[in-house]
Amino acid sequence: MNVRDSEHMIAELNAQEGYELTDNPREADLIMINTCSVREKPVHKLFSELGGFNKLKKEGAKIGVCGCTASHLGKEIIKRAPYVNFVLGARNVSKIGEVIHRDKAVEIDIDYDESQFAFKDFRTSAYKAYINISIGCDKQCTFCIVPKTRGDEISIPADLIVAEALKAAESGAKEVFLLGQNVNNYGRRFSGDHEKVNFTELLRRVSTVEGIERIRFTSPHPLHMDDEFIEEFARNPKICKSMHMPLQSGSSEILKAMKRGYSKEWFLNRAAKLRAMVPDVSISTDIIVAFPGESEEDFADTLDVMRQVRFEQIFSFKYSPRPLTEAEKMTNTVDSEIGSERLSRLQAYQDTILDEITAGYLGREFDVYFEELRSDGYVAGRTDNNIVIKVKGSEEWLGKIARVRITEVSRLVQYGEIVA
Ligand code: SAH
Repeated sequence: MNVRDSEHMIAELNAQEGYELTDNPREADLIMINTCSVREKPVHKLFSELGGFNKLKKEGAKIGVCGCTASHLGKEIIKRAPYVNFVLGARNVSKIGEVIHRDKAVEIDIDYDESQFAFKDFRTSAYKAYINISIGCDKQCTFCIVPKTRGDEISIPADLIVAEALKAAESGAKEVFLLGQNVNNYGRRFSGDHEKVNFTELLRRVSTVEGIERIRFTSPHPLHMDDEFIEEFARNPKICKSMHMPLQSGSSEILKAMKRGYSKEWFLNRAAKLRAMVPDVSISTDIIVAFPGESEEDFADTLDVMRQVRFEQIFSFKYSPRPLTEAEKMTNTVDSEIGSERLSRLQAYQDTILDEITAGYLGREFDVYFEELRSDGYVAGRTDNNIVIKVKGSEEWLGKIARVRITEVSRLVQYGEIVA
């Protein structure tokens, strides 16, 4: 989502101001840092990065801070780093062309919404297009700062999304990546009088776009994975068979304290339905350990879900208290060392599962969409079910889909050879 927000700002700056991208911060007229605020660490990193850029920037160059940390710290950023020229919240990115001309501007209003509906063209990748389908988030997960930084959830009208997919296909991209904090809640609220379309119907419409062969999306919420959605996912050949199911915790008690709205049993039921209906589906997840009140038993429930679902990929985090959240006020916190220990135990367990999963890939064939040239004489791409595969080859493969046999496996990347 941050990549898409950055693309959006780059597009505005290109179109209105004639800026071009540079890899060299010393020659930049404008340096922008697009930030996250989900955990505390990136916030600290921001200020050290800012200091570094301030030292090496050329005379008169501007520095801007954008994204969720901008939303949440606002003018505090300029207080702590007075050389910062403007602060632009995650929901306000389309105002970029305006704030660069107002020194010390702070634009972080989360009621501001129509902005994100007007798309300007800029894409980081020629082969896939990120498309926002909603902004903000209506969930109230007690650990999460996102609803406070990105505001209420508003769906972008379906016809605009389909038009974006069409534009992407016309420019040669075979893949679209639909983005939202809670994509399968799509359609609950639009900013005006727009046709009510749910996420499943949106997927159907996007898949009618000729030239688009692959549709990905993130993040869906396990609570809203109804049968209709899972069945469309299974049935529709354009929808990539890779599903992100953010678990957060395997303990029903902790899930309740997190206000996730589902239980361990519901999650397992949905994952089992997916596995049963979609052969070769890969399921990824997010897990937080050491949420306030998490006992050794609760943690064992999380490991148990991992044992039963056998996720192909896990993003795991130690709980980080965030301002403006309900959980920040909870007093039954878990000792930080216990949290670190649980995190390493969880990651070690996942490694053993992953070694078994990847061993099973050896010798198998998959269709790979090549998107990236790697410096060491390889091209890399993804299978429909999100396995990253590297193959010896050059740019002639970029943007093409080819049949690949896996010849060497590891936890992060698989190697293969083209068979057709
Ligand atoms: N709406 C997205 C969440 C984006 S944040 C979704 O539901 O997938 C990405 C992940 O960061 C979350 O899924 C969660 O696992 C993690 N996260 C969020 N807040 C956190 C916190 N306070 N401490 C640790 N991890 C957190």
